Amino acid sequence: MQYIKFLGTAGARFVMIKQLRASGGIWFCLGGNNFIADPGPGALVRALKSRPRLNPSELDFIFLSHKHLDHSCDINLMIEAMTNGGFNRKGTVYAPGDALSGDPVIFRYILKYPEKIEVLKEGGVYNTGGLSFKVPVRHRHSVETYGFKMECQGLPAIAYLPDTGYFEGLTEGYAGSEILIINTVIYEKLDGLGHLSLPDAEKIIKAIKPKKAILTHFGITMLKNRIWEKGEEISARTGTDVVIAGDGMRLDLDPEDSKG
Ligand SMILES: [Zn+2]
Repeated sequence: MQYIKFLGTAGARFVMIKQLRASGGIWFCLGGNNFIADPGPGALVRALKSRPRLNPSELDFIFLSHKHLDHSCDINLMIEAMTNGGFNRKGTVYAPGDALSGDPVIFRYILKYPEKIEVLKEGGVYNTGGLSFKVPVRHRHSVETYGFKMECQGLPAIAYLPDTGYFEGLTEGYAGSEILIINTVIYEKLDGLGHLSLPDAEKIIKAIKPKKAILTHFGITMLKNRIWEKGEEISARTGTDVVIAGDGMRLDLDPEDSKG
Protein backbone atom coordinates (compact mmCIF):
# COMPACT_ATOMS: atom_id res chain seq x y z
CA MET A 1 0.00 0.00 0.00
CA GLN A 2 1.25 3.47 -0.85
CA TYR A 3 0.03 6.61 0.81
CA ILE A 4 0.70 10.07 2.18
CA LYS A 5 -0.33 10.65 5.80
CA PHE A 6 -0.53 14.04 7.48
CA LEU A 7 0.77 13.77 11.04
CA GLY A 8 0.10 17.45 11.46
CA THR A 9 -1.36 20.40 9.61
CA ALA A 10 -0.22 23.28 11.84
CA GLY A 11 1.62 26.12 10.18
CA ALA A 12 3.81 28.74 11.75
CA ARG A 13 4.16 29.70 15.37
CA PHE A 14 0.80 30.28 16.99
CA VAL A 15 -1.10 27.29 15.68
CA MET A 16 1.93 25.18 16.63
CA ILE A 17 2.54 26.50 20.15
CA LYS A 18 -1.15 26.25 21.03
CA GLN A 19 -1.40 22.91 19.19
CA LEU A 20 -4.64 24.08 17.55
CA ARG A 21 -3.52 21.62 14.90
CA ALA A 22 -0.91 18.92 15.32
CA SER A 23 2.57 19.55 13.93
CA GLY A 24 4.09 16.14 13.17
CA GLY A 25 4.93 16.60 9.48
CA ILE A 26 4.01 14.35 6.57
CA TRP A 27 4.70 10.60 6.39
CA PHE A 28 5.11 9.07 2.93
CA CYS A 29 4.99 5.39 2.07
CA LEU A 30 6.00 5.21 -1.60
CA GLY A 31 7.68 2.58 -3.75
CA GLY A 32 8.67 0.48 -0.76
CA ASN A 33 10.15 3.49 1.08
CA ASN A 34 8.98 5.13 4.27
CA PHE A 35 10.03 8.70 4.82
CA ILE A 36 8.92 11.72 6.77
CA ALA A 37 9.07 15.33 5.66
CA ASP A 38 9.43 18.04 8.30
CA PRO A 39 9.05 16.21 11.62
CA GLY A 40 7.82 19.09 13.76
CA PRO A 41 6.78 18.95 17.43
CA GLY A 42 4.97 15.70 18.20
CA ALA A 43 6.09 13.78 15.10
CA LEU A 44 7.29 10.78 17.09
CA VAL A 45 4.17 10.61 19.26
CA ARG A 46 1.82 11.14 16.31
CA ALA A 47 3.54 8.37 14.33
CA LEU A 48 3.37 5.90 17.21
CA LYS A 49 -0.24 6.81 18.01
CA SER A 50 -1.39 6.52 14.38
CA ARG A 51 -3.85 3.76 13.59
CA PRO A 52 -2.45 1.66 12.07
CA ARG A 53 0.74 2.54 13.90
CA LEU A 54 3.61 4.00 11.92
CA ASN A 55 6.94 2.62 12.99
CA PRO A 56 9.74 5.21 12.85
CA SER A 57 12.38 2.46 12.95
CA GLU A 58 11.15 1.59 9.46
CA LEU A 59 12.00 5.03 8.10
CA ASP A 60 14.36 4.98 5.13
CA PHE A 61 15.02 8.70 5.06
CA ILE A 62 14.02 12.05 6.45
CA PHE A 63 13.52 15.21 4.40
CA LEU A 64 13.90 18.54 6.17
CA SER A 65 12.74 21.53 4.14
CA HIS A 66 14.18 24.08 6.57
CA LYS A 67 15.29 24.54 10.13
CA HIS A 68 12.32 26.36 11.68
CA LEU A 69 11.01 24.58 14.77
CA ASP A 70 7.56 23.78 13.39
CA HIS A 71 9.41 21.65 10.80
CA SER A 72 12.47 20.40 12.66
CA CYS A 73 11.64 20.06 16.35
CA ASP A 74 11.48 16.23 16.36
CA ILE A 75 14.20 15.59 13.79
CA ASN A 76 16.76 14.39 16.35
CA LEU A 77 14.16 12.02 17.83
CA MET A 78 13.16 10.69 14.44
CA ILE A 79 16.81 10.05 13.51
CA GLU A 80 17.25 8.16 16.79
CA ALA A 81 14.11 6.17 16.07
CA MET A 82 15.08 5.48 12.43
CA THR A 83 18.44 4.12 13.56
CA ASN A 84 17.19 2.21 16.61
CA GLY A 85 18.81 4.60 19.05
CA GLY A 86 21.93 4.86 16.91
CA PHE A 87 22.66 1.12 17.11
CA ASN A 88 21.50 0.42 13.56
CA ARG A 89 23.30 2.89 11.34
CA LYS A 90 21.02 3.39 8.36
CA GLY A 91 19.01 5.84 6.34
CA THR A 92 19.63 9.27 4.90
CA VAL A 93 18.85 12.73 6.16
CA TYR A 94 18.30 15.40 3.50
CA ALA A 95 18.59 18.91 4.86
CA PRO A 96 19.64 22.42 3.82
CA GLY A 97 23.20 23.38 4.72
CA ASP A 98 22.14 26.01 7.27
CA ALA A 99 20.23 23.36 9.27
CA LEU A 100 23.51 21.51 9.78
CA SER A 101 26.01 24.23 10.53
CA GLY A 102 26.24 27.56 12.30
CA ASP A 103 23.17 27.22 14.49
CA PRO A 104 22.36 23.60 13.64
CA VAL A 105 19.08 21.86 14.47
CA ILE A 106 20.59 18.37 14.35
CA PHE A 107 22.93 17.60 17.25
CA ARG A 108 26.47 16.68 16.28
CA TYR A 109 26.34 13.31 18.03
CA ILE A 110 23.10 12.44 16.20
CA LEU A 111 24.69 13.27 12.83
CA LYS A 112 26.73 10.07 13.16
CA TYR A 113 23.65 7.83 13.32
CA PRO A 114 22.30 7.91 9.75
CA GLU A 115 24.24 6.28 6.98
CA LYS A 116 24.27 9.47 4.97
CA ILE A 117 23.65 13.17 5.36
CA GLU A 118 22.86 14.88 2.07
CA VAL A 119 22.99 18.65 1.86
CA LEU A 120 20.16 19.93 -0.33
CA LYS A 121 21.05 22.25 -3.17
CA GLU A 122 18.93 24.15 -5.67
CA GLY A 123 18.58 21.99 -8.80
CA GLY A 124 19.88 18.91 -6.99
CA VAL A 125 18.61 15.48 -8.00
CA TYR A 126 18.66 12.75 -5.37
CA ASN A 127 18.13 9.02 -5.86
CA THR A 128 17.25 6.71 -3.04
CA GLY A 129 15.58 3.30 -2.78
CA GLY A 130 14.22 3.45 -6.33
CA LEU A 131 12.79 6.94 -5.84
CA SER A 132 14.16 10.01 -7.52
CA PHE A 133 13.45 13.53 -6.41
CA LYS A 134 14.48 16.94 -7.54
CA VAL A 135 14.86 20.05 -5.44
CA PRO A 136 13.73 22.55 -8.04
CA VAL A 137 14.35 25.98 -6.58
CA ARG A 138 15.44 27.74 -3.41
CA HIS A 139 12.40 29.18 -1.68
CA ARG A 140 12.03 32.74 -0.41
CA HIS A 141 11.90 32.23 3.32
CA SER A 142 13.94 33.62 6.21
CA VAL A 143 16.19 30.53 6.28
CA GLU A 144 17.44 28.21 3.53
CA THR A 145 14.36 26.29 2.34
CA TYR A 146 13.69 23.66 -0.33
CA GLY A 147 10.83 21.47 -1.47
CA PHE A 148 10.86 18.44 -3.73
CA LYS A 149 9.27 16.97 -6.81
CA MET A 150 9.37 13.19 -6.76
CA GLU A 151 9.01 10.59 -9.48
CA CYS A 152 8.13 7.06 -8.49
CA GLN A 153 7.39 4.34 -11.02
CA GLY A 154 3.67 3.72 -11.46
CA LEU A 155 2.67 6.72 -9.35
CA PRO A 156 1.81 10.29 -10.23
CA ALA A 157 4.54 12.92 -9.78
CA ILE A 158 4.30 14.09 -6.18
CA ALA A 159 5.57 17.46 -5.03
CA TYR A 160 5.90 19.10 -1.65
CA LEU A 161 6.01 22.88 -1.78
CA PRO A 162 6.90 24.08 1.74
CA ASP A 163 7.17 27.56 3.24
CA THR A 164 7.96 30.40 0.87
CA GLY A 165 6.88 33.82 -0.18
CA TYR A 166 5.48 33.86 -3.70
CA PHE A 167 7.97 34.70 -6.44
CA GLU A 168 8.25 34.46 -10.22
CA GLY A 169 9.87 31.13 -11.03
CA LEU A 170 8.28 29.24 -8.15
CA THR A 171 5.60 27.56 -10.29
CA GLU A 172 8.04 26.66 -13.09
CA GLY A 173 10.05 24.67 -10.56
CA TYR A 174 7.09 22.46 -9.70
CA ALA A 175 5.57 22.24 -13.21
CA GLY A 176 4.37 18.74 -14.09
CA SER A 177 3.43 17.85 -10.51
CA GLU A 178 0.31 15.70 -10.42
CA ILE A 179 -0.16 15.65 -6.66
CA LEU A 180 0.90 18.95 -5.18
CA ILE A 181 1.11 19.59 -1.43
CA ILE A 182 1.26 23.31 -0.67
CA ASN A 183 2.02 24.89 2.69
CA THR A 184 -0.60 27.61 2.72
CA VAL A 185 -0.20 29.61 5.90
CA ILE A 186 -2.29 32.76 5.52
CA TYR A 187 -5.79 33.43 4.31
CA GLU A 188 -5.46 36.82 2.68
CA LYS A 189 -2.61 38.11 0.60
CA LEU A 190 0.05 39.78 2.71
CA ASP A 191 3.38 40.39 1.04
CA GLY A 192 6.72 40.22 2.78
CA LEU A 193 5.84 37.48 5.27
CA GLY A 194 7.74 34.71 3.53
CA HIS A 195 4.60 32.59 3.47
CA LEU A 196 2.04 31.68 0.86
CA SER A 197 -1.50 32.94 1.16
CA LEU A 198 -4.61 31.21 -0.15
CA PRO A 199 -4.70 33.48 -3.26
CA ASP A 200 -1.02 32.59 -3.90
CA ALA A 201 -1.81 28.88 -3.60
CA GLU A 202 -4.72 29.24 -6.03
CA LYS A 203 -2.48 31.04 -8.51
CA ILE A 204 0.08 28.22 -8.26
CA ILE A 205 -2.62 25.54 -8.71
CA LYS A 206 -4.04 27.32 -11.78
CA ALA A 207 -0.56 27.53 -13.31
CA ILE A 208 0.55 23.95 -12.56
CA LYS A 209 -2.86 22.22 -12.96
CA PRO A 210 -2.09 19.15 -10.84
CA LYS A 211 -4.64 16.33 -10.65
CA LYS A 212 -4.93 16.97 -6.96
CA ALA A 213 -3.70 19.78 -4.71
CA ILE A 214 -3.55 19.39 -0.94
CA LEU A 215 -3.38 22.47 1.24
CA THR A 216 -1.80 22.13 4.66
CA HIS A 217 0.35 23.98 7.25
CA PHE A 218 -2.34 26.38 8.35
CA GLY A 219 -1.76 29.55 10.31
CA ILE A 220 -4.31 31.15 12.58
CA THR A 221 -6.06 33.17 9.84
CA MET A 222 -6.76 29.98 7.89
CA LEU A 223 -8.43 28.42 10.94
CA LYS A 224 -10.40 31.59 11.76
CA ASN A 225 -11.76 31.53 8.22
CA ARG A 226 -12.76 27.85 8.56
CA ILE A 227 -10.55 26.68 5.72
CA TRP A 228 -11.73 23.08 6.21
CA GLU A 229 -15.12 24.08 4.77
CA LYS A 230 -13.70 25.66 1.62
CA GLY A 231 -12.28 22.74 -0.39
CA GLU A 232 -15.19 22.66 -2.83
CA GLU A 233 -15.25 26.36 -3.61
CA ILE A 234 -11.47 26.44 -4.09
CA SER A 235 -11.77 23.40 -6.38
CA ALA A 236 -14.45 25.21 -8.40
CA ARG A 237 -12.31 28.36 -8.67
CA THR A 238 -9.13 26.54 -9.69
CA GLY A 239 -10.53 23.66 -11.75
CA THR A 240 -8.43 21.21 -9.71
CA ASP A 241 -9.49 18.78 -7.00
CA VAL A 242 -8.33 20.71 -3.93
CA VAL A 243 -8.22 18.87 -0.60
CA ILE A 244 -7.90 20.66 2.73
CA ALA A 245 -5.70 18.46 4.89
CA GLY A 246 -6.77 17.47 8.39
CA ASP A 247 -4.68 15.97 11.18
CA GLY A 248 -4.28 12.25 10.56
CA MET A 249 -5.63 12.43 7.00
CA ARG A 250 -4.32 9.70 4.74
CA LEU A 251 -4.29 9.88 0.96
CA ASP A 252 -4.06 6.39 -0.52
CA LEU A 253 -2.28 6.14 -3.85
CA ASP A 254 -3.09 3.32 -6.19
CA PRO A 255 -0.50 2.41 -8.74
CA GLU A 256 -1.62 3.87 -12.08
CA ASP A 257 -1.58 0.47 -13.80
CA SER A 258 -4.20 -0.88 -11.38
CA LYS A 259 -6.71 1.83 -12.24
CA GLY A 260 -7.66 0.18 -15.55
ZN1 LIG B 1 9.34 28.34 8.22
